[in-house]
Amino acid sequence: VCGPDDEPILDAAILVEGDTIEAVARYETLRQSYPLAQELDATRAIAFPAFIDAHSHARGIPLLRQGIQDAPLEVWLARLTACTPLDPELEAFVAAADLLLTGVTAVGVVFHTFAGVDSYKRGVEASARGLRRAGVRADLALGITDQPEFLPPSAELPKVPEAARHLADPSRQMTPSEYFALVDALTDSDRATDSRNDPMFDGFPVTLAPLAPQWCSPGVWRQVAQREQRGWQVHTHLLESVRQRALGPLVGELDTHGVLSARLSVAHAVWVTTQETQLLARARTSVVHCPGSNQRLAGGSAPLGDLLAAGVNVALGFDSHSASEPPDVFAELRLLQSAAERRGAPVAGREALRIASSNGTHILRCARQMGALRPGSAADVVLLELGEGATAAPPEYALAHASRRSVRAVWCAGRQVVQNGRHVLDREIRSARQRLAAAVRKDAPRRREALNALAGIEPWLRDCWERATTVSV
Ligand SMILES: [Zn+2]
Repeated sequence: VCGPDDEPILDAAILVEGDTIEAVARYETLRQSYPLAQELDATRAIAFPAFIDAHSHARGIPLLRQGIQDAPLEVWLARLTACTPLDPELEAFVAAADLLLTGVTAVGVVFHTFAGVDSYKRGVEASARGLRRAGVRADLALGITDQPEFLPPSAELPKVPEAARHLADPSRQMTPSEYFALVDALTDSDRATDSRNDPMFDGFPVTLAPLAPQWCSPGVWRQVAQREQRGWQVHTHLLESVRQRALGPLVGELDTHGVLSARLSVAHAVWVTTQETQLLARARTSVVHCPGSNQRLAGGSAPLGDLLAAGVNVALGFDSHSASEPPDVFAELRLLQSAAERRGAPVAGREALRIASSNGTHILRCARQMGALRPGSAADVVLLELGEGATAAPPEYALAHASRRSVRAVWCAGRQVVQNGRHVLDREIRSARQRLAAAVRKDAPRRREALNALAGIEPWLRDCWERATTVSV
């Protein structure tokens, strides 16, 4: 039994009651004290606290399977408009299962659609059902934008080519006031004003997610700030690409809006300056680092060493677009380490493991008791099988040698969700995966046409961003 902050205990056992760890000690000792406890065999396995994915879009099928190739962020976001809309329940179910299979039992899911309020609500309800069925913990971050996100703010509408008109106006069907009314209705906001009670929907903590500083108006941020002061958590994307760097002092703007606080977490933060890093650290704002996504969307590599040195709490996010698909915590952490090393600020194994586990507990409320295997901790446990001798090795050994195939069993809140390397609902998950794949196949001709049309305007789009945002870095 080990963890990022605990020395390994050999020949150990974990006593679980309900959803909580009661005791961790040598097997013989526990067996004597609890002779009637039911026993599950974990011989030759390493028990680790389960991992946390603090930034996900709950995608059930890799975007590459939809023909959406990786590209610099601004081009890629435009390509996303060609995606096949999929059943949010099936997507959440499959995405959560893929995370559980690599040992992640808590996920921050960013929900977003341009649909009207009723369809948005049904989508949230469906996602929640999928997540619950898969057996994962989750915070639901409810997304909103009311400013242009596909084109630079300076793009002049008359000059936008016909084929790119939908990028200039993605026809949002929900106004910010409808959004806040919906959020209040979903969470029964009277109770949410009591800061001891988290705003919840259907058993899941709810977070406000204005999707990026530049994608939301000051009016939206004002309402977000008011709710944040009443105890709400806030999550946003920040400085994911170098183009966004040129859009203004975005961290300063968050500060002006009054949302820079310990209740805010930001995903990516690739292009923060030293000064902005200090600002985040002083406000105790957390950063969700997404190494795989940053690499695939040519975002660059985040200044992880500077963030950690400044004392910023940094957690891991897969962004539903990780280095390997399906997601693999260990591969993602190894990428994190190699990227940090290339920037000249290596991250030690323990630190990397903390980023994927205990650091996330300061962001996701569903994960508060996770991050360690100690009495009183959540019974969220991963069993890794790494062969003879590995059980006597320090936790860093697992990081260097494990992959998602090493995950033998996983418990979330005391409930076993992965057994012998398979999700306990393996058959249902296969069938859900097939239904998603069938929907993607059926829509292929329309998608191809949309992507072809986009390919035609991509040179214009790149040029448009380049002219609007050329900066020296
Ligand atoms: Zn994201």
